[in-house]
Amino acid sequence: MPQLNETHDAQLRSWVESANQPDTDFPIQNLPFGVFRRRDSAESFRPGVAIGDQIVDLRALHAAKVFTGRAHDALAACNGKLPGLNELMAAGFEVWSALRLALSRGLREGSAQQSAIAKVLVPQADVEYTLPAQVGDYTDFYTSIHHATTIGKQFRPDNPLLPNYKWVPIGYHGRASSLGVSGQQFPRPVGQILPKGATEPQFSPCQRLDYETEMGIFIGPGNAQGTRIRLEDAESRIFGLCLLNDWSARDIQAWEYQPLGPFLSKSFATTLSPWIVTLEALEPFRTAWERPAGDPAPLPYLSSEQNRAEGALDVHLQTLITTQRSREANAAPALLAESNYRHAYWNAAQLVAHHTVNGCNLQAGDLFGTGTLSGPNADEAGSLLELSSGGQKPVALPWGEERTFLQDGDEIILRGWCEKEGFRRIGFGDSAGTVLPALLG
Ligand code: MN
Repeated sequence: MPQLNETHDAQLRSWVESANQPDTDFPIQNLPFGVFRRRDSAESFRPGVAIGDQIVDLRALHAAKVFTGRAHDALAACNGKLPGLNELMAAGFEVWSALRLALSRGLREGSAQQSAIAKVLVPQADVEYTLPAQVGDYTDFYTSIHHATTIGKQFRPDNPLLPNYKWVPIGYHGRASSLGVSGQQFPRPVGQILPKGATEPQFSPCQRLDYETEMGIFIGPGNAQGTRIRLEDAESRIFGLCLLNDWSARDIQAWEYQPLGPFLSKSFATTLSPWIVTLEALEPFRTAWERPAGDPAPLPYLSSEQNRAEGALDVHLQTLITTQRSREANAAPALLAESNYRHAYWNAAQLVAHHTVNGCNLQAGDLFGTGTLSGPNADEAGSLLELSSGGQKPVALPWGEERTFLQDGDEIILRGWCEKEGFRRIGFGDSAGTVLPALLG
């Protein structure tokens, strides 16, 4: 299990000078994993670790035989048949942690390995990314009670928060095939929509297209079918976290979601940030997981003293927008809302314990979405459905446009970072995605 150690020391500096800049997302204390190749090249996609504005090419580092022992074994797991990180994810915490320590030592100022590692750096400006893992299954949860209550009021004014919410981490099985990384573009979905007051649906492009600001949780070692992962082991099965935008067609969703939940309103696209920040890198930013007074305590399989004491993560989240017009005017992206993952009603370990409690097997590379991470205040909402009160109140943008829902050409950018006195700020990098016009016919 992760613990604070020398890799978290705020005083560490890297010989990669860009990693020492105060505003970088990727100082030597972070070391997140992604999968990349040189842009427009015939190279294979392969695992890498971000440091400042560079990437350590882990396959080239393996070939250079710079590391030994478990760290070398970790690099061997990055050198398999699949382009992604599945083998490394399956290898488990001890292996991930050995690689993190070796990279931290090798990238520090004064390291004897500097010249060998410098040869396997690739500038981030020259690369393109793909999904960090082959995702077998993707499950999206609903862990913000603030989001669930606000949305519930719109869909069911008389019954906003269903009685199961405070007992069961609610989720649905999402679609892995339409996951993409930052830069993803997708056509506006088309489908069945029930116009207000009508009794029969019409077939049309979505008119209430929205985003959802979430975090993604990548699973490491899985469990055999018929067994479960207990809460106390759950964090050892989490490889790390990224940013996740669960694009949502609200009008398609409203018509289709009962009785079995969202289907085509969610399955057309989901955009991830390219980098996965490991749970070990996030260790300094753990925080208490708290329930409002008077709410029920979770059932014992979702509850432990340690989980209450430090089961939540303090991750600042920002959602920004650009439009065709703002880009033509070179305007800076507009901030739509800020929030924080620590407000989640259910934490990451509880999601793992709950997902497997019935004997469902998780596999390395499986992905969870946390659900829209709206905070307690109305301006901390993680979707336009909330910010525009269901389309009633347009959101003003600084360059003179307004939005209730997304228009063609709109780009949503998610950002996330952790900061705390005594530690180096670490970030997640951007997750950006753009809406294209609907494909009709
Ligand atoms: Mn969602």
